[in-house]
Amino acid sequence: MPGKFTRFETHDVRFPTSLTGDGTDAMNTDCDYSAAYVVLYTDYDLVGHGMTFTIGRGTEIVCHAIQVLAKRLIGRDPEEFFANMGQAWDWMSGDSQLRWIGPEKGIIHLALAAVNNAVWDMFAKSRKKPLWKLIVDMTPEELVNATAFRYITDALTREEALAMLKAKEGGKREREAYVKEVGYPAYITSAGWLGYSDDKVAHLTKEAVQAGWTHFKMKVGASLEDDLRRGKLIRSIIDDPKNYPAGKPLPDPNSPELKGRNAGPTGAVLMIDANQVWDVEEAIRYVKALEEIRPWFIEEPTAPDDILGHAAIRKALAPYGIGVATGEHALNRMTFKQLFQAEAVDIAQIDACRLGGVSEVLGVLLMAAKFGVLVCPHAGGVGLCEHVIHLSLIDYIAISGSMERNVIEYSSHLHEHFVYPCSINGKGRYVVPENENGGYSTEMHPQSIAEYEFPGRG
Ligand SMILES: [Mg+2]
Repeated sequence: MPGKFTRFETHDVRFPTSLTGDGTDAMNTDCDYSAAYVVLYTDYDLVGHGMTFTIGRGTEIVCHAIQVLAKRLIGRDPEEFFANMGQAWDWMSGDSQLRWIGPEKGIIHLALAAVNNAVWDMFAKSRKKPLWKLIVDMTPEELVNATAFRYITDALTREEALAMLKAKEGGKREREAYVKEVGYPAYITSAGWLGYSDDKVAHLTKEAVQAGWTHFKMKVGASLEDDLRRGKLIRSIIDDPKNYPAGKPLPDPNSPELKGRNAGPTGAVLMIDANQVWDVEEAIRYVKALEEIRPWFIEEPTAPDDILGHAAIRKALAPYGIGVATGEHALNRMTFKQLFQAEAVDIAQIDACRLGGVSEVLGVLLMAAKFGVLVCPHAGGVGLCEHVIHLSLIDYIAISGSMERNVIEYSSHLHEHFVYPCSINGKGRYVVPENENGGYSTEMHPQSIAEYEFPGRG
């Protein structure tokens, strides 16, 4: 019996994280981690939850954009969408009047992410699988059909994608079993927020080392002197074997997984993130001056749409053994395409809610695999960690076939608001989500929505 999308609701959910300095960096000094959240309903027992991530003011504008996009779904049959999610994505992003206020960027694209993610969440729930499992169980043809391909075929054709997926098909089952056993590699950001005192950073870094983390990220860009001091402080802790749990073997800094990462004697890796504060020449000067703390990569050194600027920075820093990462503010798949074509990045940091939902992410994952660029998703905020473990599992099991050179970002904030929160195992790796009702893990507790709905919070 065909069903229909019948109605939707949106929620402007804001957590007052600015009060504690969580999430602070050189650009974003007062983040209130927020979600523009959507729930899609059908005339049968099926609901989809989706969101995009925001940091406070303006979330109401994204909610309004979600409403105009979601309205178009009412009366349509969800199964028609599920049958070809790539085509559904083209239709969802292709309203000619709404396209004018993008196209495929800014508020309308954030809103598209929320709605597309909600449809994918619903699709996975309808098949009683977590989202990653729904997608890795697709045939190569089905996966290609689920992908947003428009404008990227000069970098990757459907035929090439199909051949890549077919080449990886044989090992899918084995990789799925392996990642369930060991978890997916991760790194922690929540020790090094810019607004934290040295004492707090030292304390949190020691805690993170004890908890099994091996990759650490610190925010930079406000003051070179402060960054050097804090960087040396963090390195002094993560490079000291005495700070690690006794009896636990430390990673070998010369192992293939850690090659090129400037790992210290304990195998610990430090990354730095400037959140777009510098001009290109300034980025090069500043990061060279941080050579002493031996970062693996500089994240978001400059404006997120400046492809050639990133390429120049990467070229200038290569002799120092420091890579370039970006992507959490990359507008869309075309930005990633150009970053890859211009050899501007070592690491692609896809964002589950900045790209226009799962179908567009699939396009970027396929291109990254073809160009041999590592995928280390952006996470943290609220809900992003819950999303990205699914995307990295799809990448590992069905697309690139490798994970040990990747790490997913993790921060410890706000997971308690989700019905199917992500979790980290004792080796500092993401646990594979396995709940058959969990969908895309995007469902928030109704009481969290009620408590933090804006306005209305006391
Ligand atoms: Mg970042």
